[in-house]
Amino acid sequence: MSIDLNMDEDDARKLLDLTNDVDSEEPQRKKGKLSNPLWNHFQERGEERKMFCKHCPYVYNYPRNIHVDYIQKHVTVCPGLVNKLTQKTIQTIPGLNRTESEKFQQLLSEWFLETGTPFQRIEHPKLLETLKVLRFNVEIPTRKAVSGHRLTEIYANKELQVRQSLKMANGVCLTSDGWSNVNNESVINYCCVTSKETFFLDAVPTGSNSHSGEYICRGISGVIEELEQQDIVAHGCCTDNASNNTNAWQLLHQKYPNKHFYGCICHALHLLVKDIGNSIKLLKDTVFVATEISKIIKRSHLLSAKFNNLIKD
Ligand SMILES: [Zn+2]
Repeated sequence: MSIDLNMDEDDARKLLDLTNDVDSEEPQRKKGKLSNPLWNHFQERGEERKMFCKHCPYVYNYPRNIHVDYIQKHVTVCPGLVNKLTQKTIQTIPGLNRTESEKFQQLLSEWFLETGTPFQRIEHPKLLETLKVLRFNVEIPTRKAVSGHRLTEIYANKELQVRQSLKMANGVCLTSDGWSNVNNESVINYCCVTSKETFFLDAVPTGSNSHSGEYICRGISGVIEELEQQDIVAHGCCTDNASNNTNAWQLLHQKYPNKHFYGCICHALHLLVKDIGNSIKLLKDTVFVATEISKIIKRSHLLSAKFNNLIKD
């Protein structure tokens, strides 16, 4: 913690007002080099070429001439002064009332959940210490509260908000894609897109089921029907352009003739660029050689370090 002391004389005087425990019996310094009020944080104790900080054990030894810059540098970081200022600030700001405290605890819990911050960090003493600088009576929720009833409340609230947003949208579009997770388990996800927002609905592990057209059709139909039970209309679903998906579109079209099932244009463009790249020999060879060089460098710690140094240069 430090004090911003990029200040003019007026600001320096305000700082002194805030720390009015500086020795008032100290004789006023004469005009000149010692007229800066910052000097009032220091005192002489009869030792030659030495000035003593009044708030901490710091001693300014000056060789010949006194420079206020040195004093200013110290005053901005002086632990004793920072502490005194903090105490003064704490005494002058009223504490949080019950409503404000509840609001604060709720928002802090939301921050933990929305940023995926581990719950145990809420009990780190530095967090409470930091927040007490702002309001002396601040209370932070316990780890148990954040992972317990606060989590349940926030989840229920968010779920309600999502449902309301989906109902207010004039129909939604589904998107679905499959991938393998870090354990090499196959997963299919479902998202819901409105004209303003996108919501993640579900990720389903597909286990030993093969991703056939019928299987994909069943999954998407399930989501459409679940939404319809809540009066949310899905106008269709967008997937990638793999052949199992094209089979699924046909089955879904038969089942829902008024809805649209189609491939993702970005995925189509990606395939197009890949095909173009593969059909031009020079481009294909260049990409192949670059990939191989990159693999060789990445496999060796020594080469990686040398390569990073070359980039920095
Ligand atoms: Zn000091």
